[in-house]
Amino acid sequence: MDDIVALCRRRGFIWQSSEIYGGINGFWDYGPLGVMLKNNIRDAWWRDMVLCPPQGPDGQPLDILGLDCSIISHPKVWEASGHVAGFSDPMIDCKECKARFRADQIPDSQCPLKPSKKPGEHDKCKLTDARQFNLMFETHTGALKDDDNKTYLRPETAQGMFFNFKNVLDTCRVKVPFGLAQLGKGFRNEITPRNFIFRSREFEMMEVEFFIHPSTANEWYPFWRKTRYDWWCSLGLAGSNLRLRDHEKDELAHYARDNGGCCDVEYAFPFSGEKGFSELEGIAYRSNFDLTQHAKTSGAKLEYFDQARNERYLPHVVEPAAGLTRGLLAVICEAYTPDATRPSGVYMKFQPRIAPIKAGIFPLVNKDGMPEVAEKLYKELRGKYAVQFDEKQSIGKRYARMDEAGTPFCFTVDGDTLTGGTVTVRYRDTQQQERIGIDKVPAFMAEKIGG
Ligand code: ATP
Repeated sequence: MDDIVALCRRRGFIWQSSEIYGGINGFWDYGPLGVMLKNNIRDAWWRDMVLCPPQGPDGQPLDILGLDCSIISHPKVWEASGHVAGFSDPMIDCKECKARFRADQIPDSQCPLKPSKKPGEHDKCKLTDARQFNLMFETHTGALKDDDNKTYLRPETAQGMFFNFKNVLDTCRVKVPFGLAQLGKGFRNEITPRNFIFRSREFEMMEVEFFIHPSTANEWYPFWRKTRYDWWCSLGLAGSNLRLRDHEKDELAHYARDNGGCCDVEYAFPFSGEKGFSELEGIAYRSNFDLTQHAKTSGAKLEYFDQARNERYLPHVVEPAAGLTRGLLAVICEAYTPDATRPSGVYMKFQPRIAPIKAGIFPLVNKDGMPEVAEKLYKELRGKYAVQFDEKQSIGKRYARMDEAGTPFCFTVDGDTLTGGTVTVRYRDTQQQERIGIDKVPAFMAEKIGG
């Protein structure tokens, strides 16, 4: 993991926020390569869930509409959702070293910073009892900083899709089953942010709320469970590093127990040298819990009239809630491939679809008209693809830079280009090169990248 963090920093994927001031714990900045990669994952999700959604069990494309709701909403939203009362972690302080820990992360009631203490001595550690610590970031709207003006930064994007449910019914011609989708920032004042961007205090999520008739949960829950697992596979996270974990019966809310369930898509992040699986996305059957709460708290009528069934009801929900930032970290971990045969010693094996830079375009040397030909090719491709022109340093160093950035193809203009009209194309993963006509490069890109 340390090597991955170092590469992310060195190549401008991810930096600690406010680094020149010593950083701020739990906040991260995405550099030029990082934001391109993150946006490509985000756009793949939006395209695959909203613009070109999956086909449902009946073979018809699903109806999923996108929303973009404000980060701060009416504070009653978070009372209705249960976050004000219950969105908390039990926390324990060590009075000696002043550190704060989540209660479930302290083995044997012993301060983790005092590993030398023998069992039986741990009472000297001066740990406080566990206290509930609400994870929501509070702020105030308007000039007065009193309790009447207290608002919260959203800890999840889901609630906007519930409190706009009626707006959607009234303005869009949708019929149950249908979904709402939203992605964006969420904020949680995590007690112990850790493991690079895995657990941060500001992060991005991608969530779908899929509204269904209550009697169909047993169809839709397994559908979403499989669809979301397959989606992560389609980004290149496959094989032994990805798994679906069904929650144990005692982890489930009662409504999930009877009518479907709850599971996590987990990835084997290489934290602390161990291969432990951790959550990327949760897929949960939530019954009509959220709509019921909002109907009760706001007084609004949120029932849906189902013409086909001639029935009025509060739809139930299956919710696939994914972490974009965690997804980005998983994609980076999966792509990181040490290779002692290369000058860079490592390359990033991103799928062409999500690679930040799609191709590098180089003149072999900076003379004999090669830079001009390479630049012409660059300009032709640049209108359509994120490609990069590079004429500095040796060709080996330029390939090495592209290997670390995870660029799948490099085109090099050399002497034969000037006489025979061909360029070399170098494949990142095999380092093999072949010659293709310079006029065939756009078709090559269309075939390999799309668009
Ligand atoms: P965890 O148990 O890891 O705290 P959670 O079960 O509370 O996560 P959800 O509320 O289901 O998470 O949020 C949906 C997704 O948002 C998670 O699957 C995860 O990918 C992402 N996520 C949640 N908390 C964080 C965080 N602090 N930093 C980065 N991503 C997060």
